[in-house]
Amino acid sequence: MPVTEGQKPDTATPIEQIEQASRSSMPLAERQKSNETVPLEGEKPSKNALKKAAKEKEKAEKAAKREQQEREEKEKAAANDTASHLYGHLNYEAPPPFAEKFLDLGDLEGIEENSRVTFEARVGNARVQSAKLGFLVLRDGFDSIQVVIAEGGPQKISRQMIKWCGGLNTESIVRVTGLVQAPKEEVKSATISHHELHLDSIYVVAEAPEQLPVQVKDCNQPPPGEEEGDAVIEGLPNVGLKARLDNKVLSLRAPAGEAIIKLESEVTRLFNEYMFQHKFTDIQPSYLAGAATEGGAGVFEVKYFEEKAFLTQSPQFFKQMTIAGGMKRVFSVGPVFRAENSNTRRHLTEFTGLDFEMTIRHHYHEVLSFGESLMIYIIRGLQTQEYPKKLTNIIREAGYPEAGTFQLPPGDKAVRITFAEAKALLSEAGIEGGEPHSDIDTAQEKALGKIILEKYKTDFYTVDEFPRSLRPFYTHPSPKDPALTNSYDFFMRGQEFMSGAQRIHNYNDLCESMRLKGLSPEDEGFKHYTEAFKWGCSPHGGGGLGLNRIVQSFLGLNNIREATLFPRDPGRLAP
Ligand code: ATP
Ligand code: MG
Repeated sequence: MPVTEGQKPDTATPIEQIEQASRSSMPLAERQKSNETVPLEGEKPSKNALKKAAKEKEKAEKAAKREQQEREEKEKAAANDTASHLYGHLNYEAPPPFAEKFLDLGDLEGIEENSRVTFEARVGNARVQSAKLGFLVLRDGFDSIQVVIAEGGPQKISRQMIKWCGGLNTESIVRVTGLVQAPKEEVKSATISHHELHLDSIYVVAEAPEQLPVQVKDCNQPPPGEEEGDAVIEGLPNVGLKARLDNKVLSLRAPAGEAIIKLESEVTRLFNEYMFQHKFTDIQPSYLAGAATEGGAGVFEVKYFEEKAFLTQSPQFFKQMTIAGGMKRVFSVGPVFRAENSNTRRHLTEFTGLDFEMTIRHHYHEVLSFGESLMIYIIRGLQTQEYPKKLTNIIREAGYPEAGTFQLPPGDKAVRITFAEAKALLSEAGIEGGEPHSDIDTAQEKALGKIILEKYKTDFYTVDEFPRSLRPFYTHPSPKDPALTNSYDFFMRGQEFMSGAQRIHNYNDLCESMRLKGLSPEDEGFKHYTEAFKWGCSPHGGGGLGLNRIVQSFLGLNNIREATLFPRDPGRLAP
């Protein structure tokens, strides 16, 4: 029975319990109901029961004696422990003194030798070399340092303290104070190799259990391939993607896991930066709709009081209605929901969309050129700015071979081909592309990526003029050929990461286009959208980028789930 607060544990031995029971004033029927081992009235406990109880009593007495001895030994040791005040659990009510320089481990590189510092970090490794000497490796995010615990010194470090440090569980958070010193030789087991910390005091802030479902260090490398043809990484024990996702809190602590998510944040930052530099307004669309739009397939239905609602598949209608509302340039970063039962390496049921929409002055290519410059700004930023470069290095050093190898076109001049040219390149390479207006499948996309890299020395390129049959109803037809549209896709390493187009802004044209696709402009789900164009709207276009795809492709990650903090797919809704 768990002992709740204020309740005394039941420490009576079995024989005492029997005695207590026969003395109990509780009526017999109730005692029997309460499941006590009770002799019936007038009945004496059996010989066997007494013998068994006596044995258990003896056992319990021995255990209690042993515990008492251990406690006494500990107290004795503590009495001799010259360092008992220098370690233990951190008491926030009466915190021990800490150094003037209370910093993050990451800030330690610039610190002068012989500085006394305090910081908090996780135990990466604890090791006792001898009774007089122990070592810890402490880790905080991307940084780690060696800590030396040596007997004696001005603090009078004790052997008990060294032993205690050696018993710390990995992943526990500790607050340490000590002197920054130059190590005798370069430390290979920590990222900070030219400094080590000579420990003065150490307190546990949060304790991790002895056993963890996955080891953080085993997550700091690409997960083993799951499909035929995937690269196999020999050597260290390795944790599969599923176990990493199930234990995200732990796998996120691996430097590579953290760096991938931080790189994602860098992409969003650069996207936002570019948008604000170009006078775009950050808008917040709704993610709920009363009717399934954009064709209806692939939407999640949710209960909305007594009615149904749907999670939006993109902010498309809201962006366009905001343009119709008179705003010239808008963007939005938010979740996109797709109820597609596709279990691939590049599909999720929820991903982060980076969307923009802008008015057009002369030609649709204003939108396409803007998108190209935007992507070059983002990717160049990742490649040249110090922090994203550091993140990419951490990922590469963890064994991701394609991290840091992404190629932008020479002179940052975007490579743009038409859909028809893409098909021609594929057929030149002996890849059968089917009908001229049929879609390019995933394998063909990958092949095209290779052809373009060879020919134009770039991993980033755009494909323009998609056939009308492949695009949604709101896509503006091409003035050159009604079977084509003013629409484009962007690719990184042969994988689509963005789609965009000029949109139809003329009400009658829009209605006609809808009818051609079997949709009704008066339909409840479209009424407000189509009305927006009845009331006059500027020519406009835009695009939608998938954040997770960008990071996956930039780093050459095998699976989009690695580039997603809490991925959602047909088989996963937690954590
Ligand atoms: P795909 O053909 O790859 O399934 P799509 O053409 O259906 O994608 P769009 O509607 O064009 O997707 O969405 C714009 C962008 O959003 C895509 O280029 C991609 O980066 C991202 N995206 C779309 N669907 C998904 C998904 N299921 N999971 C992750 N990202 C997605
Ligand atoms: Mg697309």
